[in-house]
Amino acid sequence: MALNGKKIILAVSGSIAAYKAVYLTRLLVKAGAEVQVLMTDSAKAFVGPLTFATLSKRPVLTDVSAEDAWNNHVELGLWADLMLVAPATANTLARLAHGLCDNIVSAVYLSARCPVMLAPAMDVDMWHHPATRANVRTLLAYGNHLLPVGTGELASGLTGEGRLAEPEEIMAHLEAFFQPPHPSLAGHRVLVTAGPTYEGIDPVRFIGNRSSGKMGVAIAEVIAERGGEVVLVLGPSALKPEMPGLAVVRVETAQEMYDAAVAAFPSCQTAIMAAAVADYRPAEMAAQKIKKTGDTLTLTLVKNPDIAAALGQQKRPNQRLVGFALETNDAEANAQDKLRRKQMDFIVMNTLQDEGAGFGGDTNKVTIYTADNKSHHFQLSTKRKVAEDIVGVVLNG
Ligand code: C5P
Repeated sequence: MALNGKKIILAVSGSIAAYKAVYLTRLLVKAGAEVQVLMTDSAKAFVGPLTFATLSKRPVLTDVSAEDAWNNHVELGLWADLMLVAPATANTLARLAHGLCDNIVSAVYLSARCPVMLAPAMDVDMWHHPATRANVRTLLAYGNHLLPVGTGELASGLTGEGRLAEPEEIMAHLEAFFQPPHPSLAGHRVLVTAGPTYEGIDPVRFIGNRSSGKMGVAIAEVIAERGGEVVLVLGPSALKPEMPGLAVVRVETAQEMYDAAVAAFPSCQTAIMAAAVADYRPAEMAAQKIKKTGDTLTLTLVKNPDIAAALGQQKRPNQRLVGFALETNDAEANAQDKLRRKQMDFIVMNTLQDEGAGFGGDTNKVTIYTADNKSHHFQLSTKRKVAEDIVGVVLNG
């Protein structure tokens, strides 16, 4: 809905993932957007301009000047509501970060007054190279929006980060981007905890859990996209969220997460505790790797601080505390009990009995209970959509 009538420049650079931009064009057109496709020379080696032209019902622009015409990149930059570079190769990111103006994509980028969204695609080592990291930081500092890269098999045969986000995911980001910003989230500061914690046994071993951090990171991203300011205290998760409005504090242990959360909470109006904090840690961490001497090994564990409960006690009347409850039995009663005991205003409950809900996966199914005895039930959906629902209820967004 939000994309209906929107004018989108889709800039395609030379990656094998250019084929996904074809499907993306179709989805954009189907959503009612006007799409102007730009292609770099190397993109043409992967997909023909005719494919994009047919789907977008507009000629594709591949050069700043054609034989008999000059493609007015300035006009294009003013026409669009959004410029989306997908796939954005390492080369194109470098061009844009350094202000080069040697092809149609970089020329339009430099003259664009509209927001620019970048969806990178490259091999894992190129993505992690310090040069690419620096270019990404520069592009973020210029106010561009960065879509998360996917992790998995890459065209090179390697596995890791660097896959172009799937067209459906890109569409979800675009839809969210064009939602009118929620007035209550501008100037709203939110603390979010996410991910697991690792509790050291010795220098090489730890006690941890299977939390991926996806749910909490999705919540943080939705809030930042809607104009809120987020302090994301993130345990050891594979995710590396980067976007304007999102300050990430990386921690490893429950104690570190506690220290970071307690320090950040006073300046926030809301805290959303999505982390799966280890309840216990080894009483002592061995200084050296523990040798396998006996047939059994007994570890003595001590209780970790309960971060949510501590914030519940510190909470001022104008602050809101949101917790999570992952339950396996008596779900509602346990969640309600947690809500009261930890002085939360909302608790988001998911049960491991619901297929597709809980740790690791990309979907979740939640019910939100409020301190004033209301409940909101939601269907199984992507963690992104669940994040939008949660933000909708707890921040009235
Ligand atoms: O009691 P339980 O661990 O099930 O409570 C879950 C809620 O409490 C979650 O919101 C979780 O982030 C938070 N929590 C915490 N610190 C702990 C344990 C849980 O913040 N040590």
